[in-house]
Amino acid sequence: MPPVAPLLVAPGYSVVRIPLPLPLPDLKVVNAYAIGTQDGVTVIDPGWASTESEAVLVAALASMGYTPSDVRRILVTHAHWDHYTQAVKWRDELGAELLLGAEERHTIEAFDARAGIHPNQVPVLIRAGAPALARAVAALQWEPYERDMPFAAPDRWLRDGDVIDAGGVSITVHATPGHTRGHMAYQIADMAVTGDHLLPRITPSIGFERAPERLPLRSFLRSLQLFLHLPDARMLPAHGETDRYTRLRAQELLDHHQSRLAIVTDLVVAGSSTAYAAARQIRWTRHDRTLTELPTIHQMVAVLEVQAHLELLVDTGVLGADESAEVTTYALR
Ligand SMILES: [Zn+2]
Repeated sequence: MPPVAPLLVAPGYSVVRIPLPLPLPDLKVVNAYAIGTQDGVTVIDPGWASTESEAVLVAALASMGYTPSDVRRILVTHAHWDHYTQAVKWRDELGAELLLGAEERHTIEAFDARAGIHPNQVPVLIRAGAPALARAVAALQWEPYERDMPFAAPDRWLRDGDVIDAGGVSITVHATPGHTRGHMAYQIADMAVTGDHLLPRITPSIGFERAPERLPLRSFLRSLQLFLHLPDARMLPAHGETDRYTRLRAQELLDHHQSRLAIVTDLVVAGSSTAYAAARQIRWTRHDRTLTELPTIHQMVAVLEVQAHLELLVDTGVLGADESAEVTTYALR
C-alpha cells in the first residue's frame, strides 16, 4: 500500500487519503478519506470488510492520532461492497453514525444472497440476446471473500443538498445517480469526494447493482452535467490518484458517452439490432479486447452498458425498440 498522504491541512482539521487493499481479482485498491478534527474523525468509504483492510485503516487513523473509537460518523458514496461493508461493520461495532444516499435503499432492500449474485441481470441479458452469457452469469458462485458481508440500512439516509457538520467542517452532499441510483459525492472545501462517479482513468460502470433504475445512463449523464456547473474542485476519487479536477473529468466522460451513443447508433443502422450484437462489434478495455475475450462478469457489464445506451437512444427518440419477442430489437426510428 502507498503511504497515507495528507491532502489538506487547514485550521482545525485535516483531510487524508487512505488507500485500502481489496480482495478482488481486478480492482486492487479503494481510497478511504478521513477528516480529522478536535471532535474526532469522519471517515468516507472505509472499504471492504476484511481483516487486512481494517488493519490498514486502523494504522492510518493511528498515524493521524486517532483510534477507531474516535470515529464519529461514516459517510459512504454508494452501497457497492468495496465502499460500504466495512462501514456497516464499524457502525455495528463502534456505534459511529452511518450515512448513505437515500436511493441506495432499493438495492439494500432487494438484496438476498440466496437469490444468486446477479439475479436481476440474468433476464436483462436474455432480453439483450445473450442467453449463453445469461446462463454463465446465473451459474456464478459467491467467492469466499464475498460471503456473509455486513450489508444493511444506514442510520440516516442522505438527500441532495444536505450539509453535514463533521466536527465543525461542512460537508455538502451532491446526489450523483448513475453508477448506482443513490450515489452521492461529498464536497469538502474546494475538494470533492467523487466515489465511483468521477474516476480519473476508468469509465464508471452504469447501473451495476441489485435493483437498478430504469434509465441509469440518463441519470449518469445528468450527474456529469452537474459537475460542469459546480465550482471546479480537486477530485478525491474512490480509485486512483487525486491530481485531477472535476470539471474536465466530467467533460471527458460526457464526450466518451456522446461518442459511444453515436457508435451504438451506427451499429444498429449497420444491422446489429440487439444489445449483445452491438457489444460484440465494440472493442473493450484499453487492450482492445473483443467481448468474448473478457471474463464473464465483464462481458455482463459490457452488454448492460450497451443496453443502457440503446435504452437512452430510445428515450431520446433516435431509436425504436421492438419488445414483442423474447429478445428486444432496435432500429432507427
Ligand atoms: Zn461502485
